[in-house]
Amino acid sequence: MRQINICSDVVIIGDGISALSLAYVAARHNLKCVILGKNIPGATNAATGFLAPRSDYMLHDLELVKRTAYECGRWRGIFNPQIVKPQLFLIPICQNLPESVEKFKALFSFYDRETAPRLNQLPGGYFRISRATLEKNEPNLRKGRFDGALALWEFTVNPIELLEKMRETVGNMNVESVSIKDILDYEVAGNRINKIVATDVCGCIVRIDKFHIVVNAAGPWIPDIWKIFGISLPMKLNIGAQAQISGNYLRSGIITFGSDKKHVVCIQKNGYVQIGPTNGSDDISPLYSVFADMINGVVPEISFLKSGYRVRPFAVNTQRPVIWNHKKHGFENFYSLHPGKMVLALLAADELLAKAREDGWSQANMFPSNKIYALDGMSSFKSNLKICWLTVKSFFALALYYLKYLITKNP
Ligand SMILES: Cc1cc2nc3c(=O)[nH]c(=O)nc-3n(C[C@H](O)[C@H](O)[C@H](O)COP(=O)(O)OP(=O)(O)OC[C@H]3O[C@@H](n4cnc5c(N)ncnc54)[C@H](O)[C@@H]3O)c2cc1C
Repeated sequence: MRQINICSDVVIIGDGISALSLAYVAARHNLKCVILGKNIPGATNAATGFLAPRSDYMLHDLELVKRTAYECGRWRGIFNPQIVKPQLFLIPICQNLPESVEKFKALFSFYDRETAPRLNQLPGGYFRISRATLEKNEPNLRKGRFDGALALWEFTVNPIELLEKMRETVGNMNVESVSIKDILDYEVAGNRINKIVATDVCGCIVRIDKFHIVVNAAGPWIPDIWKIFGISLPMKLNIGAQAQISGNYLRSGIITFGSDKKHVVCIQKNGYVQIGPTNGSDDISPLYSVFADMINGVVPEISFLKSGYRVRPFAVNTQRPVIWNHKKHGFENFYSLHPGKMVLALLAADELLAKAREDGWSQANMFPSNKIYALDGMSSFKSNLKICWLTVKSFFALALYYLKYLITKNP
């Protein structure tokens, strides 16, 4: 059987957006990387394609929203203007809004103010449009159904295109990519993984050694990789599905709400509308009622488009990048990495390398120094406390803003 020997500084298991972003960031720091991937459609393929910080998340974690706005700019810097594009989204005003219009307006003003880097690259901040303008611009929306809309610009990307571009980019940076079948074996010396043996799709044996760190960035398959290394940790996988309805209905993206007050995003693609996500199930039928309720006339059947798992490692909901260090499991140079959101994959990569440096895996400062922003998956109690604290801080910041907003509105 043919054998391939690879020497690398960083071994990355997985080939989704987090693996590719880590390879990109590491290669920019002149680290040699090898990606061991399976090319299975993962969470990135299933993503909606929002690169937005999400104003509704300000209540949970304002710091993260601000950072996400900055991250949008980074993606634009790499791929602008090919694939990261501003798109106008409308939030039609109706009974199902989870908050009053006044609260939404205060939220969006606060959002625009706090996410200046995002705003500087978009055509403008949020604005309100009247019922007549909404009905003129979106002639397929049910007449008289909405009392105008709130409008805002956000960056979007086609996740599959993003993956392709990232693959191409890291390929040009001399990152080695191996399509593997299985990880067969590994060797440990002094609490450190120092060799990994895998088979590739052609049946060749691939031996990798002389690396500093191994990173498990296999998204929803992170636990499968843990199993290979005899690690078991709690992790929750939440499914989210996207549906499609054929036809051309919308000129802008629409963010609307079901009777359960959960948001639904409708994005017009070529010949169909993509609608999602479902929350915690792959049942797409509730999406149909939300869409049909909004649209004039009879809407054709809904069909399944794609689905994927979101990783939820904590009891407290977080969309932050998460890094696990597996020292506790006997592997000092083994990490697992999840970006939380596709848009945060570059940030997650920065933080992983910063953590590796902090943990002493650098030789002559090989790994970049960076403020560690992520939560360490190993110390979930501390992480939960931190998230609770950020939530309280964000809540007070927004409440204060809303109060000021009300006072200036009603002098
Ligand atoms: C429905 C839905 C909508 C979403 N929408 C958005 C959005 O609009 N914006 C946003 O920012 N985020 C969004 N997210 C979250 C985002 O998709 C994920 O956070 C992100 O894509 C995770 O990337 P990843 O590389 O960690 O995982 P993945 O993309 O799942 O990649 C993991 C990779 O690991 C590889 N793999 C699997 N097993 C093995 C193995 N044994 N060995 C080697 N490799 C293996 C697979 O080939 C796979 O491609 C959404 C998620 C879902 C589910």
